[in-house]
Amino acid sequence: MAGARPRRRGGRAALPVAEVVTTYRCPHCGGALELLELRREACIACWRCLRVACVSARKLRRLYMTRQRFDWRGMVLAMYRLYLTARA
Ligand SMILES: [Zn+2]
Repeated sequence: MAGARPRRRGGRAALPVAEVVTTYRCPHCGGALELLELRREACIACWRCLRVACVSARKLRRLYMTRQRFDWRGMVLAMYRLYLTARA
């Protein structure tokens, strides 16, 4: 996930601005989980079994962004844990 940084540009569309395959595996089917960074939230998803877990960008910024950097590792781990409780 090198090179990924929080964005500060304004914008309207809620289209994914980043889509990253993580090293985490779906516990249900074994597929690779993808992290989708949207305008207002970030989601971790399995496209094989269509499970998804999302957290608002506001909450993620509050929890993982400091003045200098964004804690991607901490964020992805937390989202993976949330994913474990997600339903199809
Ligand atoms: Zn799956």
